[in-house]
Amino acid sequence: MPGLMNLSRTDGPHPFGDTAPRHRNHIGRERPESTRPGREPTASVKRVQAVPAVETTRLHKNYGDVQALRGVDLRVETGSIFGLLGPNGAGKTTAVRILTTLLLPDEGSARVTGFDVVRDAAKVREQIGLAGQYAAVDENLTGFENLEMVGRLYHLGRGRSRARARELLSSFDLSDAADRLVRTYSGGMRRRLDLAAALVARPPVLFLDEPTTGLDIRSRIELWDAIEALVSEGTTVLLTTQYLDEADRLADRVAVIDQGLVIAEGTPEELKTQVGGERLEIRLCDGQRGEEAVAALVSIASDRPFLEDGWVRVPVAERRGTIADAVRRLDDAGIAIDDISVSTPTLDDVFLNLTGHAAEPETEEAEVQPR
Ligand code: ATP
Repeated sequence: MPGLMNLSRTDGPHPFGDTAPRHRNHIGRERPESTRPGREPTASVKRVQAVPAVETTRLHKNYGDVQALRGVDLRVETGSIFGLLGPNGAGKTTAVRILTTLLLPDEGSARVTGFDVVRDAAKVREQIGLAGQYAAVDENLTGFENLEMVGRLYHLGRGRSRARARELLSSFDLSDAADRLVRTYSGGMRRRLDLAAALVARPPVLFLDEPTTGLDIRSRIELWDAIEALVSEGTTVLLTTQYLDEADRLADRVAVIDQGLVIAEGTPEELKTQVGGERLEIRLCDGQRGEEAVAALVSIASDRPFLEDGWVRVPVAERRGTIADAVRRLDDAGIAIDDISVSTPTLDDVFLNLTGHAAEPETEEAEVQPR
């Protein structure tokens, strides 16, 4: 997927410049006041909320015999981060390519900020930015020159292009490297520049196709911070990812897609609850007494306890008091404990449970060190 696409919109709020009051959601990320739950929306907010930023209905796409999308329904609310999760070949990039007008659907419909991606493709392009798996910046130009060039391509004029380039370089912590050739940038710096390039024309909706694949953990966290900052200022983000911790950290809602179908949708917490609540994990001093331990603990379990890899695993509905209760029961039965803890389900568990296989992100590649 190409790394950059954008846009002719040049007005609207600066992604980093707005000062709207915010609150924290369940994952601690700040959101603009306009999307705050439980607050009476104003008339203009009602209008905005009535039209989702992205909506697809029964989207189908085949490549010859390959059914890449088999009826995908998605809805992304304005001002949120939506994560499209799926293994290799699930159909994520195909969905993003349709939503960004690079590919026509075979059946079904897709709208971005209310505009149809087929009938109103030009309008859709004015609303969106796209940054992909592979940074598409020109490595023989400096960071500043890249952003200035994008501004000129969108007819911002020389002065505004230069000002916007400086502003974005500063926002993405690239000012010090502004005049260095991009080929001397690290992988993380290139991705940040790519993201900056997708924002030159201030798109209200940003598509990020596996934005951190191949990056090391430090660069991923920097990019996550940049994405969160954007959304806290009102940008809507749809991101595809194979990294479940990325979806967990960033996304308000996620859809799990596998073999062209959405197989689950909800907040990360809702999805985790679906695969079962918390689990007590106990390792016994005497591994031979597992069945006895299961029998002793069955009455505090929300589902049948089981033995796995030398551990007794006990699904529990309520975390509070569970460890003490389990210790008491095992003590009464004369069974000694080597280790005990409570584990909470992760999105990896959700993914495994839904698809029958673990998510397999590509191995991280080494970053190019600045010269
Ligand atoms: P990845 O994480 O590997 O990028 P993805 O979830 O984005 O995967 P897609 O790239 O949308 O998946 O691919 C969905 C299916 O369509 C896969 O089976 C893929 O091999 C196939 N496919 C994608 N593009 C083409 C194409 N141009 N021609 C033929 N088949 C294609």
